Amino acid sequence: MIDLHTHSRVSDGTLSPTELVSLAADRGVTLLSLTDHDCLDGIAEARAACAAAGIRFLPGVEVSTSWDKKTLHIVGLGVDPENAALQTGLARLQAVRDARGAEIGRRLEAKGIAGARAGAAKIAGEARLTRTHYARFLLEAGHVKDLQQAYKRYLGRGKPGHVSVEWASLEETLAWIHAAGGRAVLAHPLRYGFTRAWLVKILTAFKQAGGDAMEIVSGRSNPDEVAVSAHLAGRFELMGSVGSDFHAPSAWLQPGVETALPTGVKPVWESLPA
Ligand code: AMP
Ligand code: MN
Ligand code: MN
Ligand code: MN
Repeated sequence: MIDLHTHSRVSDGTLSPTELVSLAADRGVTLLSLTDHDCLDGIAEARAACAAAGIRFLPGVEVSTSWDKKTLHIVGLGVDPENAALQTGLARLQAVRDARGAEIGRRLEAKGIAGARAGAAKIAGEARLTRTHYARFLLEAGHVKDLQQAYKRYLGRGKPGHVSVEWASLEETLAWIHAAGGRAVLAHPLRYGFTRAWLVKILTAFKQAGGDAMEIVSGRSNPDEVAVSAHLAGRFELMGSVGSDFHAPSAWLQPGVETALPTGVKPVWESLPA
């Protein structure tokens, strides 16, 4: 069992890095990466917990990236969390995130949702505000019946609480990850809702800009999606990664991905030093 895409309380997960590692260990994970959104604050704790549990650990981060007015998530695997270029870049994204988080709150409050910002901030605790925190607030306050509805009605593209921001450019994201010694992985390529033609455009740009890999097995992917992804990885000469995108034990998706990479796809983790 491997998992190279997980979240902790440091961003929009609900477990501490130590609790995440313990759950992953219980489920038989032997290679783990913590990939919080735009943030490396959980790496030291996760690394120590993995060492104690006898799990191989790769420091990671999921970088919010803007490309052609779309948001892409690029996972950096095996990054040095002390790297200055990466740290400076992520600090900028965190500032963008803070301003956007406040604006989401103002817009929801203008739509009659009282206490949105304070409510989401309370759920976020020390973490930077993400839409996930707003979604959890909307659910807890009874404005929606489940998390999906929070995105559908309030937080998704074109909805009242959606605030478009300029994240890192593709070139910046790849430069930061590579400066930090990591591999750049296009996260959950089939989950953006792009048409196949757009996905091919994005993979072309990603490969040209120096991207290294793409996720082949993502938490929810079915065998057809794995086959499509493996085909695209072959076509664009990208290595493959696997990850659950785990956020919370209450959700259906748990840490650890059993499915092996299809033959012919080179595992990205084998390209990184042990
Ligand atoms: P942000 O980076 O603040 O825009 O928040 C994005 C996060 O919201 C993602 O990483 C997911 O965890 C979550 N998210 C976005 N869309 C959905 C959705 N439709 N259903 C569930 N979670 C979502
Ligand atoms: Mn998330
Ligand atoms: Mn993502
Ligand atoms: Mn993620």
